Amino acid sequence: MSWQARIDAALSERRENHAFRSREPNEQGSGRWLVRGEQRWRNFSSNDYLGLSQHPDVVGAWRQGAERYGVGSGGSGHVTGYHHEHAALETALAQWLGFDRALLFISGFAANQAVISALMQKEDCLLADRLSHASLLEAASLSPARLRRFAHNDTAALQTLLAKPCAGETLVVTEGVFSMDGDSAPLAQIARASRAANAWLMVDDAHGIGVVGEEGRGSCFASGIKPDILVVTFGKAFGVSGAAVLCDGDVADYLTQFARHLIYSTSMPPAQAAALRASLNVIQQGDGLRKRLAQNIARFRAGAAGLPLALVDSATAIQPLIVGDNLRTQALAQRLRERGCWVTAIRPPTVPAGTARLRITLTAAHENEDIDALLEALYDACRE
Ligand SMILES: *Cc1c(COP(=O)(O)O)cnc(C)c1O
Repeated sequence: MSWQARIDAALSERRENHAFRSREPNEQGSGRWLVRGEQRWRNFSSNDYLGLSQHPDVVGAWRQGAERYGVGSGGSGHVTGYHHEHAALETALAQWLGFDRALLFISGFAANQAVISALMQKEDCLLADRLSHASLLEAASLSPARLRRFAHNDTAALQTLLAKPCAGETLVVTEGVFSMDGDSAPLAQIARASRAANAWLMVDDAHGIGVVGEEGRGSCFASGIKPDILVVTFGKAFGVSGAAVLCDGDVADYLTQFARHLIYSTSMPPAQAAALRASLNVIQQGDGLRKRLAQNIARFRAGAAGLPLALVDSATAIQPLIVGDNLRTQALAQRLRERGCWVTAIRPPTVPAGTARLRITLTAAHENEDIDALLEALYDACRE
């Protein structure tokens, strides 16, 4: 097969399965509204859970940082790109979350890749929840370690895997809040099972940090556990982008030697680190925002109970409605758009086959009228 034939075949397959993806530029995609050209929709698709992407303190800190330091870091942190703004953010994060150290990465994808590629060796075993994010599973499949996936949120299934012999070390990987389902992992049970088997636990809390638990400290804090490795990302509740790995001092030193995504990549702009510190401040004092979000979640769930689509058992900002069929999901998303609400249709392979869904995300930036408009649009769209 030629290159051209291979690419043509892959594209036709996507088109035939109604799974072809394309992107459209917009003027604003985070916050309450999605704006494109002359039109705007109520935005139920962004991960900007607290609305911080537009927060004046965060925007102001970035602006001030850019004026002071310029816009680029100038290099990898191992060369000239490690600024006192990075160090200050790392210290603040480590203190907030109760770890010895935090290391910044440019994205959650890079952080997950870095940790797994730096830690896992040939004889090792990686046990991951079946619904783990693509960045974790991708890292796992690139690593020489043996990957085994356990049934979603099923501690007994994990224990069965932990009981099997592994020639090397074992790392258990799960998420605090699952990105496409919005449900939470049984972290206390998973931590206990991992510890009993001398395995390390890594938790990716991309969707829990900032929104779950006291002060928004996230899923681990709320479950009373401290994993060996915690990954938090800044593209969701923090409203910015980037990520951090939290760990003890030796692991941080180890990653500083061996994490290639850290060593061979330009560090985030110092102004971004300054914006993130402002965002952290807002999050720490963000009980009002979290309360607002919780009210929106409750209002949506109460109103959606009568829909002919099943609500997932989720207490978080992620409230998917499982439709099943790809075409029907797309048609529903289209009808919602015609009614002023932007909801993304999520299809396989992002989610398992036959579970295409409307992934609705609620944020603290939504008003009651936004939730009511969404509910009305959903009832109308389902009736059509
Ligand atoms: C979004 C997400 C990531 C990737 O983080 P980015 O900073 O967007 O690269 C990793 N893990 C999970 C669970 C996510 O939802």
